[in-house]
Formats: sequence, C-alpha cells, structure tokens
Amino acid sequence: MGNKQSTFTDEQFEAYQDCTFFTRKEILRLHGRYRELAPQMVPMDYTNNPDVKLPLALIISMPELKENPFRERIVETFSEDGRGSLTFNDFVDMFSALCETSPRGVKTIYAFKIYDFNMDNFICKEDLEKTLTKLTKGELPPEEVTLVCDKAMEEADLDGDKKLSFQDFENMISKAPDFLSTFHIRI
Ligand code: MG
Repeated sequence: MGNKQSTFTDEQFEAYQDCTFFTRKEILRLHGRYRELAPQMVPMDYTNNPDVKLPLALIISMPELKENPFRERIVETFSEDGRGSLTFNDFVDMFSALCETSPRGVKTIYAFKIYDFNMDNFICKEDLEKTLTKLTKGELPPEEVTLVCDKAMEEADLDGDKKLSFQDFENMISKAPDFLSTFHIRI
C-alpha cells in the first residue's frame, strides 16, 4: 500500500547491470528518456516486458543523436528487427555501446557495423566513400573522397581483396586515435 510503482524488477535491473555499463539510476533515467519520446506508447511499468518499439524517426530526433552524421546507421545497427525500430533493450544497448566508459574494442565492433552500409560484413570502397562523405559532412569534393578512400583502402587492405575485413579495419583504426570520436554519446 502506498508503495512506489516499480518500473523494473530486481532481476531486470541485475540483467541490465550485467550487460551494460549503466547503474540502476541510469537505467531508470534511460527509461524516462525513452518514454518521453512517446508517452502514450511506452508504459511506466516494464516488469512484464511490454512489446513496444519506437520508430527510427523518433529516436534520431533526440538531441544526443540529432547532429550525428551517422544517426540513421547507428539506430539501424542496434535495431533487432533491422528496420530501425528500437525496443527499450535495443535503446539501452545502443547508449551503452556508445557511452564514454564503453571500451575501445566495443566501439570498434560497432563502428565497423555502422560503416558497413551494405551490411555484408566487409567495408568495401563504396562503404568507405559513404563513411568519409558523412565524416566530412559532404564538404569534400567527390574526387577527393575517392582519392582518400583509394589510398586508405590500399594501405589497410592487407590481403588485397579490395575490401576491409574486421581485422583490416581494426588495424586501420588503431592508427587513427580520433577515428572513433563520432561514437561517443553522453546521455
Ligand atoms: Mg559492406
């Protein structure tokens, strides 16, 4: 009687704490942020794992993502259904992977997925060109983008198959410490 309504059970909190970089308080804050995107769709009570997904358009309207040139790709990458809709769990996974305390190795895995526009598990020249165009906010002329990508591909593609495997990419990233800065999002 008079008990505060709970949003998550202890088990749910423990599961989030095991799988993410967040505390209980942060999980609750994330739930609040998720809920404010669509208060009529997202219930306060999550103890029964409600089947709720929020569309990509709502997620990318958040101030944390709005200015990020990779916002659509980021959200698509964390969307379990692959269509860009996020459940609350997808939403938590996304912010956990992108938060400041998330290790470089985790960020590298997701950067690779995000840059792999055609989702074939390799970064080909077209993926790299799209990436660079976004990173430079379209300010580089296309010929220059091609030039830079050719050069990067030549250096990073160690087995000469004209595309970057995750290992090639990891190796390339290790030489460019600022490369992952697009994937730090504070929430
Ligand atoms: Mg690809």
